Amino acid sequence: MSDKKNLFSRLKDGLFKSRQQMAQVMDDAASEDRAIDEDLYDEFMDALILSDMGATCAQEAIDALRKVVAEKKLKNGLQAKDELKKILVGMLDVHKEPLRWPMVTLVVGVNGVGKTTTIGKLALRFQGLGRTIILCAADTFRAAAAEQLTVWAERARCPIVKHKEGADPAGVVFDGVQAAKAQKADLLIVDTAGRLHNKKNLMEEMEKMRRVIDREYPEAAMRCLLVVDATTGQNGLQQARAFREAAGINGIVLTKLDGTAKGGIAFGIVRELQVPVMYVGVGEGIEDLQSFDANEFVDALFE
Ligand code: GDP
Repeated sequence: MSDKKNLFSRLKDGLFKSRQQMAQVMDDAASEDRAIDEDLYDEFMDALILSDMGATCAQEAIDALRKVVAEKKLKNGLQAKDELKKILVGMLDVHKEPLRWPMVTLVVGVNGVGKTTTIGKLALRFQGLGRTIILCAADTFRAAAAEQLTVWAERARCPIVKHKEGADPAGVVFDGVQAAKAQKADLLIVDTAGRLHNKKNLMEEMEKMRRVIDREYPEAAMRCLLVVDATTGQNGLQQARAFREAAGINGIVLTKLDGTAKGGIAFGIVRELQVPVMYVGVGEGIEDLQSFDANEFVDALFE
């Protein structure tokens, strides 16, 4: 099976719950015999809410649909559904900056969302593209974090830079940068602590790490990926807001889309941060990371 087909089917399986509800409503509504009236808009709105999209995003999508229906003088439910799909794709289709090497990727997110797993998957992915990778264990707050990252480094067969528990994260980043420069690595992936209970600390810690990278490695591109567990629904939105302020996010990784996730949370997070979803996690294995494709994602929600 091709990667794309594989992702599509796993997304569809994962998004089963929301698809069942949403696809059902859409199928009922989207017929050529059905007129476009207030009932139809209400049914579309309900379906979007069922997908975990959140009321604000759903309302925006429906308002945009009303406009297109009027402009194009659409007549039936099927035409409206097709336009709604295009609108939803447009909501997710944020410009992706091309990758530039060498690069430092800071990975942030609260504990348990799949940060470490995602780092392992990213390492393997970029190795597969012929890039050399070094991992950097800058989550020195949790005792298990560096150990866990070491396991992934072994699986992906790439070097790891780590210090003792409680060490200064910016110090680990400093050493990571020196290693990346000395070994001429393409990509340094930095695991960070997922503490949100003290935003001021988090912010200071992030700033310090960024300063070290700016100063020591100005030739490197820097990006910061926020990992969000798609099964946590609207909670993910709160996390996105908190990390936006503290960390300056360039891209989103949505994990656990193979599980019970409803998927609609992607819209709220993209709307909030105005940065693209870069990757989706569709399993616990090292190969279960895929590039995000807005068309494919919306198709998986609808079919
Ligand atoms: P961290 O605390 O953010 O570093 O999270 P971990 O990487 O340790 O992951 C937490 C749990 O989520 C682990 O049991 C992972 O196997 C699991 N996990 C991570 N990504 C995915 C995914 O895409 N799908 C599924 N089903 N589980 C995942």
